[in-house]
Amino acid sequence: MKLIVSCPTCGEKGELEVPETTWERMESNIIIGRVPPGKVCEHGFKVEFSRSGLVLGYHDLNAEAKDFQIRPVSFTVQSAIRNLSIDVVAALLTAGISEETIVLMGSLAVTMGIREFMERVLPDSVDVGSAIYMVTKEEYADLPESTKKHMTVDLSMKTIINPAFDDEQLEWVRRVLQRANMVTDQQVSEDLILKETSKLRTTVSLLRHLATRRGAGIEGKKKAGLE
Ligand SMILES: [Zn+2]
Repeated sequence: MKLIVSCPTCGEKGELEVPETTWERMESNIIIGRVPPGKVCEHGFKVEFSRSGLVLGYHDLNAEAKDFQIRPVSFTVQSAIRNLSIDVVAALLTAGISEETIVLMGSLAVTMGIREFMERVLPDSVDVGSAIYMVTKEEYADLPESTKKHMTVDLSMKTIINPAFDDEQLEWVRRVLQRANMVTDQQVSEDLILKETSKLRTTVSLLRHLATRRGAGIEGKKKAGLE
């Protein structure tokens, strides 16, 4: 992939070659590349671009990797439920707790916002075991089949393709969300989800551990006391 970049200091234009293999290692849909001084002009800078080759913005060389040009939509428990429906939010959190790979389909600002929300309420699951791909509708079409078979949530249509969760766990997370939705203080509301889901997470990892030891698959999953 070739990017046309222009220096944010002097405006000099140049070409940046991005090897296709770069994306294979990435879960995110955005990369920040480093352009050293002397490559385009005398200045060095960072360029932020999407999988489709769209330049999203420039940063100086010392900018934090998370200093995105695109401002993610900021989701609270209530606004996530209001915008996506409680079923979709519950499905996302349930899959996250089980460390399933999730594909989020939607505009970058929304997918990034949902990812941030999940990182906040499930800090132990997301980034540890749960990989989250963020793609636009157009980019989804080009994903490899192996990625498409993961649970995919179309955030604008509020539909779930290939659901990856246990119905009993989903129902449990739904009840936690209903309670959290009634709490007006955001911090308290998110803490409630974190505290409750970490119980479920412990149960899930324990079951997985036991299943591995027994080599017995999902035996015993249903009888776990989740409440
Ligand atoms: Zn320059």
